Amino acid sequence: MVCWLDISEKKRLELALQKANEDLEQRFRDHTADLLKANPQFQQNFRERQPIEAEFRVLSEAAPVGIFRTDAQGGCIYVNPRAQAICGYTFEEALGDGWQQLIHPDDYQQVLPHWIDSAKAQTEFLEEIRFVHRDHTVHLVRATTAPILSDTGELIGHVGTIEDVTERNVIERMKREFLSIVSHELKTPLTSMRGALALLSSGRLLDDPETAQEMLEIAKVDTERLVRLVDDLLDLERLEAHQLILTKQWCDTASLMRRSIESLQLLAEESRLTLVCQPLNVEIFVDGDRIVQTLINLLGNAIKFSSEGSEVYLKAELVNGDQWVRFQVRDWGRGIPQDKLDLIFERFQQANATDARQHGGTGLGLAISRDLVQLHGGQIWVESTLGEGSTFYFTVPIR
Ligand code: ADP
Repeated sequence: MVCWLDISEKKRLELALQKANEDLEQRFRDHTADLLKANPQFQQNFRERQPIEAEFRVLSEAAPVGIFRTDAQGGCIYVNPRAQAICGYTFEEALGDGWQQLIHPDDYQQVLPHWIDSAKAQTEFLEEIRFVHRDHTVHLVRATTAPILSDTGELIGHVGTIEDVTERNVIERMKREFLSIVSHELKTPLTSMRGALALLSSGRLLDDPETAQEMLEIAKVDTERLVRLVDDLLDLERLEAHQLILTKQWCDTASLMRRSIESLQLLAEESRLTLVCQPLNVEIFVDGDRIVQTLINLLGNAIKFSSEGSEVYLKAELVNGDQWVRFQVRDWGRGIPQDKLDLIFERFQQANATDARQHGGTGLGLAISRDLVQLHGGQIWVESTLGEGSTFYFTVPIR
């Protein structure tokens, strides 16, 4: 139904509304003035509290930690901006039970009963909860609350803090994985060295020099493996702490390539593989030992993951207006799955779960190579087809 009011009627209503508003405001002012007059203590508190409340508001709004408050029933009545950013809700969305909507479905069943019990029992609540943001990122949040009691001991609400511990959690997990991998990598060669040395020292092999020689060989190989692992760990540590300084000088690319090939010649022969080198006679301003270290790692992997009788190919060429040298190490081995092409450059990552057992290695070589190449200002990447082989490339500027 459409109702037409004539102009004078509308005006009259507007005036009446305005009057009612003014009356209400006046009554509120009168009431506050009466209170202030009647109670000097209230007046004093009122004046004292104003700046304190303003100060607390500023603190809460700017605090680098999430803060929230609930009423006695546990319904949210306040969240500061940091809590909103951490959990992914707005102020309005968090109010009442709204904050619960963004809890990860797997945590919901466990967190809510715990929260309700602590709220009822007026005890502290401490929990790590996952929140799913609107952009679908998951944040692990550490929430702590404490009950707020009135002067008469009655529960009037809860105050809580919220901390984003996602990153800390990832770092802790990495630390645990690191320790477990390193201790495993240390233990395996140490166990076999101890076995070999125990046999030798028992004297049981005194009249079996051939087996004694084999035991010595095992101990030597495992010692070298340990030294390699410790060297890798030290390099990684220095790279991460930005303490690895390159000693750059002019080097002939071809001789760096030859040095790398020479140190792997024996391994290639043992694996019945041919190393083919297409050298480049160009001077580059690099840390020669670190470039050789990178080439040896790539060539060593190419040999490790190729089958007998095939070739491993090392080449270098000028690119980008002859300002850069691009090295490439090509093999015709088993190849790398597409979804692992980036991952294998991360620490302790291998393309197959069985690689460490079957081929040795710890998954540190490519992470170190990547850091060394990047320290030179270059890039490293791999192209590969499963079953057909892989080509690792890296670039360094000539100067
Ligand atoms: P490591 O060889 O000590 O395990 P790397 O960081 O050098 O460590 O290599 C990481 C992983 O990448 C290897 O374990 C392997 O799974 C994969 N990979 C590296 N190079 C090759 C290659 N040429 N062919 C197939 N897989 C490779």
